[in-house]
Amino acid sequence: MGYKNAAVFGGFSTFVIKCLNMIYDLAKRQMSEEDLGEIPRLNMLLKRYVDCDPKDRELIVQDVLKLAGKLSMPENGEMQSTSESGEMQSTPEKKAGTDGTAKKNQVAGAKKKTRAAVEIGSAPGKTQPGTKPDAGDLLELQFLKNVGPKRIRLLKKLGINSVRDLLYHFPRRYEDRSRLKKFYQIQDGEVETVTGRVIGCQDLKPRKGLHITKAAVNDGTSVGYAVWFNQPFIKKQIPPGTEILITGKADRKFGSIQITVTDFEIADQEDPVHTGRIVPVYPATEGLPAKTLRTIMKSAVDKYAIMQEEFLPPQLLAKYGFIGLPAALAQIHFPGVMDEIEAARHRLVFEELFLLQMGVGLLKVTKTAEKGIKHKKPGPLTKLFQDQIPFGLTGAQKRVLDEIVRDMEDEKPMNRLVQGDVGSGKTIIAAAALVKTVESGYQGAMMAPTEILASQHYQGLQELLEPLGVRLALLTGSLSRSEKAATLDDIKNGRVDIVVGTHAVIQEEIEFQRLGLAVTDEQHRFGVKQRAKLKEKGYNPDVLVMTATPIPRTLALTIYGDLDVSVIDELPPGRQPIKTHWTGRGMKSKVYKFIRDQVNLGRQVYYICPLVEESDKLEVQAAVELAEILQNRVFPDIKVGLMHGRLKQDEKDTVMRDFKNGELNILVATTVVEVGVNVPNATVIVIEDADRFGLAQLHQLRGRVGRGSFQSYCILVASPSTEEGKARMKIMQSTCDGFVIAEEDLKLRGPGEFFGTRQSGLPDLKIADLIKDVKTMQLAREEALKLLKSDPGLEKKEHLRLKEEISGRFLGTANYIKTS
Ligand code: ADP
Ligand code: MG
Repeated sequence: MGYKNAAVFGGFSTFVIKCLNMIYDLAKRQMSEEDLGEIPRLNMLLKRYVDCDPKDRELIVQDVLKLAGKLSMPENGEMQSTSESGEMQSTPEKKAGTDGTAKKNQVAGAKKKTRAAVEIGSAPGKTQPGTKPDAGDLLELQFLKNVGPKRIRLLKKLGINSVRDLLYHFPRRYEDRSRLKKFYQIQDGEVETVTGRVIGCQDLKPRKGLHITKAAVNDGTSVGYAVWFNQPFIKKQIPPGTEILITGKADRKFGSIQITVTDFEIADQEDPVHTGRIVPVYPATEGLPAKTLRTIMKSAVDKYAIMQEEFLPPQLLAKYGFIGLPAALAQIHFPGVMDEIEAARHRLVFEELFLLQMGVGLLKVTKTAEKGIKHKKPGPLTKLFQDQIPFGLTGAQKRVLDEIVRDMEDEKPMNRLVQGDVGSGKTIIAAAALVKTVESGYQGAMMAPTEILASQHYQGLQELLEPLGVRLALLTGSLSRSEKAATLDDIKNGRVDIVVGTHAVIQEEIEFQRLGLAVTDEQHRFGVKQRAKLKEKGYNPDVLVMTATPIPRTLALTIYGDLDVSVIDELPPGRQPIKTHWTGRGMKSKVYKFIRDQVNLGRQVYYICPLVEESDKLEVQAAVELAEILQNRVFPDIKVGLMHGRLKQDEKDTVMRDFKNGELNILVATTVVEVGVNVPNATVIVIEDADRFGLAQLHQLRGRVGRGSFQSYCILVASPSTEEGKARMKIMQSTCDGFVIAEEDLKLRGPGEFFGTRQSGLPDLKIADLIKDVKTMQLAREEALKLLKSDPGLEKKEHLRLKEEISGRFLGTANYIKTS
């Protein structure tokens, strides 16, 4: 592409450096002295590639190609010659014949790219489908010792697609096996490490199915025994005379020590991996035991940590005394002493948070420069709509709506998060924004996380908007094929103004004529990624995200750093705070009496079943049983309904409608009613085994009541066995303030669980801890902002590596950073 250093994300030169390393690995034994000397020279030149003009760049690349041309083909076709320039990309296809995984690699790589791009909300069309930025990385993984196609697949399951990923797969904990003991120093029951010489070994078969290998080991002062169960292959590995290191639990038997070996190693290695040192413990996965991963990691660290180039700006390294990247990576995996872990962590945590903040910062910079839709000033439709609203907006609602209107009328795309506690009245705000987009001649989309919620929104909007002539459509997964096709066609041809649906449907299949506004309700149920998906399809609509999850400020900055935030911090008038009671499981009869009293007053009741996390089938079963008991034994004269996730959509609709209309007095339900359901006449929510739920979830559930003017009650039935469970019940009793609850929840549980990382779009942090490292986060944020201010395009020489790194990690952002 004319040597613009732009053909590959992260810079063409980085890619070529990787190729050069591969050439070296493959050919160092067959290369002449002279050719070998070329490698460091070219490496150096490539690092200055960005500073060279295109002519010189061409010369450098020619030299690399010349060198590659001298490679002879390995017999099994493992590596393709790079001599036809630009052919590196096609390596996976060519390899597919001999190695089934190659194609998959390619697909995974491509997928990875879209994912990364979407996370950052990249603009579509700018990515070049032909480039495979991480082809080099993918190949690298195969070149690791002990790693074949099968292990590559297993590593992928852990999200490891390259050596780089592997190096950033950090230990969960460490075991200090560096202190060697003598047998005579060991106490019964301790886990210890001993080194000694094997003097004899014996296979024992005391009974069928049990095979014991027992070796006598001389540690220089006395003899002890090492035993392995059902590993008959061990004996061959340790002939008499072998020096071994063994780690395991010790038993004293008949006066001598016997160690049941969990890890052992032949001690002639200079650098032990599994024992005799501080040993990293990795989260194991099926088929890839911790020990295997440790072996793979050791060779990766030994060989590749040193090659990882520093990218943090030198001024930051100096200011905070961070150790360099290769050292940090080596020490975090295989520390010599415990202190080294801290030093490595110090740097890697900062690095991770700093890159994150740089990514967010860059995104914000570019978003402000983007052009979106400029919505019209309010006209007659808006006026009609306002006259329809059956109540006056609260001050907070007015303020937030003003902010939205201002954003929408502006040319730059809106990206606004509306935070408002349950019941604060977010729906009407969304409706107003949707009306505005329709009035301006665009279509609107409203996405909800569940079908129940989607149809509730649909009904609500229908009541408000159909009289105004606005055309609505509901799209959920349970439409028949032909209904769906017809609806999709209407949307495509502009015969529908507003589409309401579950987010999956809207994001995956829909095509709009002119999408002007996308609203997503209850954001915590789906992530930033999905939000970006619409953009990916070629729309650049205004985006409104609504959430009842009160996100503590510290986290909001991280997660929604690229969003503007509005807060509805006021409840509609006349609401009475919900009274929350916590009672033990033995008090059911009192609870039943209370329910009966409320029903007699004309009120309605939610009865939430215990959470069965292991299986939703069991959960449904439990719900069915509970409903039967309540209906047949406890409240034979009262109407009890049942709602759970396995009902068909029309069944759900019927139940929900009956409950709304007051035909059902009690609704037994699983957590499907957790989000957004609105029945103002319901005043009691009973939550069984409440201690099994998280605080955020309890708060959401509680928010189903207290939505009208009647006094409402939340009854937590729980006899918690843990302190944490008790603490949660107490917090629920003490406050109705979502923000307080969120802060407490974070303290008790940590952010991953709080949001459910998978759904939230919360960054997948590998080493930093959003709570423990909150100070570092602030520091990283300050430094990132400072840097972006002084060098917005990261054009300065000392920031070039950083720029490459950011483009590499957030591939989508590459579009936003100008490449020279
Ligand atoms: P959430 O923020 O939890 O989504 P909703 O939008 O469902 O809350 O609103 C909760 C209830 O409050 C609804 O019944 C809605 O009609 C009502 N509501 C919203 N705004 C007001 C208001 N300003 N005055 C009175 N009732 C309101
Ligand atoms: Mg809502």
